[in-house]
Amino acid sequence: MDWNQMWKEQPTVMNMLKQSIEKDRLAHAYIFEGMRGAGKKHTAWLVAQSLFCPWQQEAAPCGSCSECMRIEHGNHPDIIVVEPEGASIKKAQVENLQKELTYKGMETAFKIYIVNDADRMTASAANSLLKFLEEPESPILALLLTENVHFMLDTILSRAQKISFAPPSTDTRTRIYQEQGVSEAAASLLARLPDETARGYNEEGTDWIVQGRALVIQLVEEVHSRPHQMLLTLQEKWLTHFKDREELDIGLDLLLFWYRDLLTVKYGQQDLAYPDQKEVMEKQGQRMPETDIANTLQLILDAKRRLRANVNAQLLMEHLLLRLQEGS
Ligand SMILES: [Zn+2]
Repeated sequence: MDWNQMWKEQPTVMNMLKQSIEKDRLAHAYIFEGMRGAGKKHTAWLVAQSLFCPWQQEAAPCGSCSECMRIEHGNHPDIIVVEPEGASIKKAQVENLQKELTYKGMETAFKIYIVNDADRMTASAANSLLKFLEEPESPILALLLTENVHFMLDTILSRAQKISFAPPSTDTRTRIYQEQGVSEAAASLLARLPDETARGYNEEGTDWIVQGRALVIQLVEEVHSRPHQMLLTLQEKWLTHFKDREELDIGLDLLLFWYRDLLTVKYGQQDLAYPDQKEVMEKQGQRMPETDIANTLQLILDAKRRLRANVNAQLLMEHLLLRLQEGS
């Protein structure tokens, strides 16, 4: 992703960085915090390119000179990346980093280090890092990246400038899942689930989401056309797929996305959670006025709320389906 694309994704962040680069007022250390997919890594690399590119203009790196290319390919000797080995970033890794930073720069006096998943430093690793966050011996820029800023030590937070990234758009999230090999059908649903939920289903669990998706399509069709079937499907398929409270909550989300899509289709917009179901939705939407769809969304949201209050899952779903059927 180049500078201009990132500018479209994160205008506030990019504007702030541009100003600081242009006025030569970068802090010694930054914390980039925000959801996965928000562009923290890309931004870190773009900042590095901006600082090393001889053709940089208004802070934007050229993107094609040898410095920019070396950085893009991860081959720049003055940029050091630290990331978790296994579950955490260990003290020895931070000590190695410190050694590398004290070598003279290969070509310039300036060095950058990027710490991915900085919240996963062990306490002793974080304490070692503190020592040189406090007194950088040479011109050094630290970029600490995290999705969980609340897990970071206050002592680190107080020595770095925090930059918060806006959550990525649904489009961006969908594209990221697809780049990871997830099918479009699953990606457009995962992109709409809360990040903490979707993360667990990212690699192995997409089959589960795809099966859940098929169940939503079946159940909705039955609610609206074959209501005598729906309680059987609930019993035999839905409740055996969405087994516990957490899974049922995701099932209700998938159902919610369906009816939200109905409204999206009615308004003639494109951005659907079920992109291949548009024709079915157009037909269903013709029979359902907007107020009915809005009521349906409210019923599903109520069910999600009641689910948290420890009600019996089967009763909750039966009640919901009967209400949906009345409203259809
Ligand atoms: Zn360049």
